[in-house]
Amino acid sequence: MIKYTIETPIAKLPRINEKYLKRFHKLGLNTVRDLLYHFPNRYDDFSKIITIDKLKLNETATIQGEILKIDNTRTFKKRMSLTEALVKDQTGSTKVIWFNQPFLIKNLAEGKRVSLSGKYAIGPKGPYLSNPSYELLTLGKTTTHTAGFVPVYPETIGLGSRFLRYYIKLILPTMALIEESLPSEILKTHNLPNIQTALKNIHFPRNFKSAEEARKRFAFEELFLLQLFVLKQKNKLQQQSSFKIPFNKDLIQTFVKSLPFTLTDAQRKSTWEIIQDLEKSQPMNRLLQGDVGSGKTVVAATALLEVADTGYQAAFMAPTEILAQQHFKEIKKLLNPSPLVKGDRVNGFDIEIGLLTGDEKNVSNKTKIFVGTHALLQGSVKFNNLALVIVDEQHRFGVEQRATLLRNTKIVPHLLSMTATPIPRTLALTIYGDLDISLLNEMPKGRQKIITKIIPPEQRIQAYEFIRREVKTGRQAFVICPRIEPQVNSPSAVNGVNPQLEIDTRKLLWAEVKAVKEEYEKLSEKIFPDLKIDMIHGKIKAKEKEKIMSDFRNKKTDILVSTSVIEVGIDIPNATVMMIEGADRFGLAQLHQFRGRVGRGKHQSYCFLFSTSGETTSRLRAMQKHDNGFELAEKDMEIRGPGQFYGVQQSGLPDLAMASLKDIDLIKSTRHEALELLKKDLELRSYPLLAAKLSQFKKTIHLE
Ligand code: ADP
Ligand code: MG
Repeated sequence: MIKYTIETPIAKLPRINEKYLKRFHKLGLNTVRDLLYHFPNRYDDFSKIITIDKLKLNETATIQGEILKIDNTRTFKKRMSLTEALVKDQTGSTKVIWFNQPFLIKNLAEGKRVSLSGKYAIGPKGPYLSNPSYELLTLGKTTTHTAGFVPVYPETIGLGSRFLRYYIKLILPTMALIEESLPSEILKTHNLPNIQTALKNIHFPRNFKSAEEARKRFAFEELFLLQLFVLKQKNKLQQQSSFKIPFNKDLIQTFVKSLPFTLTDAQRKSTWEIIQDLEKSQPMNRLLQGDVGSGKTVVAATALLEVADTGYQAAFMAPTEILAQQHFKEIKKLLNPSPLVKGDRVNGFDIEIGLLTGDEKNVSNKTKIFVGTHALLQGSVKFNNLALVIVDEQHRFGVEQRATLLRNTKIVPHLLSMTATPIPRTLALTIYGDLDISLLNEMPKGRQKIITKIIPPEQRIQAYEFIRREVKTGRQAFVICPRIEPQVNSPSAVNGVNPQLEIDTRKLLWAEVKAVKEEYEKLSEKIFPDLKIDMIHGKIKAKEKEKIMSDFRNKKTDILVSTSVIEVGIDIPNATVMMIEGADRFGLAQLHQFRGRVGRGKHQSYCFLFSTSGETTSRLRAMQKHDNGFELAEKDMEIRGPGQFYGVQQSGLPDLAMASLKDIDLIKSTRHEALELLKKDLELRSYPLLAAKLSQFKKTIHLE
């Protein structure tokens, strides 16, 4: 006897008016199905049912008995409403107090039998059951809010768990209409409850174990869908064709020999992986991950060279104009090692390298290697045989960006993304699971460990003196200040609030923001009047920025004061001091990127962290302790959870999958099952329900 269907709108449920409907919608709940899939984020354990004489102070328990007396009063001092009751069972009676719920006496009247779950506390006038969850006991009806494992749901104002429990219990019988979409072999192999058992137990479990089993099933299901999604995506790309770039051993050997340094083993291995991908007729979709300073640019240069030498076009994109400029110079230098060879030529092959940014267009129809910003995609260049796209400082090439490119080209170019942000293994196997990953897990020889110090306010002068000494020996320094306009990013954490971030946001609002301009004036007039100081920030025109950077590169400037525009990629090996103001306002990944701007040459380098609040945060301590990006990423995951990683938050992953992004075992088994299933049945023809679920899932997921 099921009254509703899965598709029944919430508006059709009993006693729902406009006001309530809005609140349901606010939680994203529109239909009975949405309610069925609105999972609790925790449970209250009210399963211990005892008689009143067994109540113990500070313990949570359930008692059941009759209301002898109930009344509303007010406290004088706190202006709070109190509802006081006396409840008895066969063993005795106890006082019960509710705070600010005067409406309770409408339902809970003298003589009624009630079930109450809460903590037994002590007050000035003796012990009482404090603010218990309550419900009337009715013959033949099970309890919902007390006396068991009671679900606590994601709520909104005016729509609390009590309401949600009521409605979910009401529509729970519709779960019989839901068909199992997971293959039965998989349920069996992994010991997962079927969909009905899981739905029942995730809402109203008998104990923690059954709740956990249900939760695991849904986490499995969500991750399994994610795996099917990324693996199918990968497969789809592999169906497309790309230009085959034959491996040119002589060319690569000559190039590698021409370099002013020996490649690390990791660089060799990654280059080889890329070269092998380029040889295939399917498009490469690879991510090159290497800590700041690990030498990604030269790996990119090798691939660009191979492609350009074959006669095809290749594009190298950077996120900022400064970085595009730098890459342009660097690629030219790397590919044109001999000053005897005229023009942009390598070993007798004509390779024209062009630069294209928002402000600059320095390309011709002979250009083979296009270096630039995303302006490269904006259609001003007509590529006719674009065979390779390399994107620096990006985790993956977005679906939309790829679509933009494909408008200009018939054949899908090979794609290489490069990033310094470590991708924890769990993420490499999930939201980045459609990418092949190459790892630069080794630094070039001779790099010294950067010395990182949190500087207390009283040591500021010493830090300035230190910088002066470094400059006197010929080195240079960066000073980073938080943005000109305070920017408040407060990404919400997985499963609710992240206290760390909340505090940061408040600090950001209250603290005086140290503007780059002020800092520049202070340093150039008061602190270092004898040194050459310059400043750079996002509001400066590209041309001028370029001049500022090349002045710094050519040692015309000693100290560069900057906002976070300097953050990624900038390579000035002579700079040895990175001083970060307001370091407590930056995230770990960002701080590590800043620090990576020094220690890129042969000189010992330093990173000084100043905190606005004067407080040492766990992030700053982590910076002081770890110099390795991977360790920092692990630490970050510990402090903030996987939801804070780039791309995770935007991914639109359902909650349980999100929460399970740490669970390597679950990730591995879902990946294994997805691979096996797709091997058997790529189009999921024998699994229509699963296919339907997957296409639903696709609509919510967004991997960038
Ligand atoms: P990132 O991986 O951060 O992009 P870069 O490619 O900018 O690093 O390289 C950092 C610096 O290290 C550059 O100055 C580059 O010339 C140098 N470099 C790269 N590979 C090596 C190597 N194998 N040995 C020595 N120096 C290297
Ligand atoms: Mg780089």
